[in-house]
Amino acid sequence: MGTWDVVIVGGGSAGLSAALMLGRSRRSVLVVDGGRPRNAPAQHMHGVLGRDHTSPLDLLAAGRAELTRYDVAVESGEVADVAEIEADDAEPGAPVFEVVLDSGERHRARRLLVATGLRDELPDIPGLAEQWGRGVVLCPYCDGWEVRDRRIAVIASAAANAHQAQLMRQLSADVVFCTQGAVLPPATRAGLDARGIVIEDRSVREVFADEGGRLRGIRLEDGSEWEADAVFVAPRAVPHDDLLRRLRARSMRQGGVDQVLVDDDGRTSVRGLYAAGNVTGPRSSVPWAMSSGSLTGAAINADLVDEDVRNAIDARG
Ligand SMILES: Cc1cc2nc3c(=O)[nH]c(=O)nc-3n(C[C@H](O)[C@H](O)[C@H](O)COP(=O)(O)OP(=O)(O)OC[C@H]3O[C@@H](n4cnc5c(N)ncnc54)[C@H](O)[C@@H]3O)c2cc1C
Repeated sequence: MGTWDVVIVGGGSAGLSAALMLGRSRRSVLVVDGGRPRNAPAQHMHGVLGRDHTSPLDLLAAGRAELTRYDVAVESGEVADVAEIEADDAEPGAPVFEVVLDSGERHRARRLLVATGLRDELPDIPGLAEQWGRGVVLCPYCDGWEVRDRRIAVIASAAANAHQAQLMRQLSADVVFCTQGAVLPPATRAGLDARGIVIEDRSVREVFADEGGRLRGIRLEDGSEWEADAVFVAPRAVPHDDLLRRLRARSMRQGGVDQVLVDDDGRTSVRGLYAAGNVTGPRSSVPWAMSSGSLTGAAINADLVDEDVRNAIDARG
């Protein structure tokens, strides 16, 4: 079995951006991608310069096409397992990783980048999941402009939601904030009230749609309704970090989840193991994921250059 310079698990904005930097540095790269990017339910992607209001899947298809210029292979599939292994042909002490795909295929790599994204865990409200990425969204910057001056409901599921309601008030005067039983600090309540945001303390029982599946509004515990053109929520962001954990990357409790720690170059606590994009944090931005992947790709190349220098000196004796 040959050894790739880098295997990248996850071919979303972060993974493909890293592959681009590495491919342009003449590194041999394998990207394995499960094909389920976080924003797949959204028809259009916004706030991405040069690509505003285009399909997120088209962006990734264009990225894959660009990579064909370089020594980068992109394979569809899931990586089921990873391990650090001893390899006879490696520099003593240099890391070597083995990845196993769900097909059983195995690959070796000098460096491993995990760019597997995250899962948005939605509040358990009937009808909400069906609307995810269409009538129900999370990010005012991604989807706010499209519903400017429309009827907006913001459902509290995290402390950040009151701020989300204030961001939406920037775009529409018709905003209702559903507290879902959360006790708001007086200053937060006063701020919402002062800007004309309706505070709804009755619980939301369901999100309802018309026969064509288009969002119509929210229904409350007593049966009364608020009509809405968009519902904003703050899902719990759960990183797809199984592979990083299996390799014992260090993590820390942050925002209610254990978050694998990386430095500014995407390095984890395990030598040769890197992470980029949403698996390292929940920011909802394709440009940020690209930047994270791109910087990490460059850092991995620099790391490999250092190893190549050591190998060259050793070879000279
Ligand atoms: C509904 C919604 C709308 C959004 N709209 C916007 C928007 O308009 N503008 C914007 O800038 N941002 C938007 N975002 C945020 C954007 O989706 C993320 O910031 C971005 O997708 C993160 O990129 P990533 O590469 O880190 O992860 P992802 O794009 O999630 O890519 C991760 C990839 O890794 C793969 N993968 C996971 N595990 C494995 C495995 N074991 N083996 C192989 N492959 C694996 C997945 O299948 C996936 O293809 C939106 C998010 C949501 C939820």
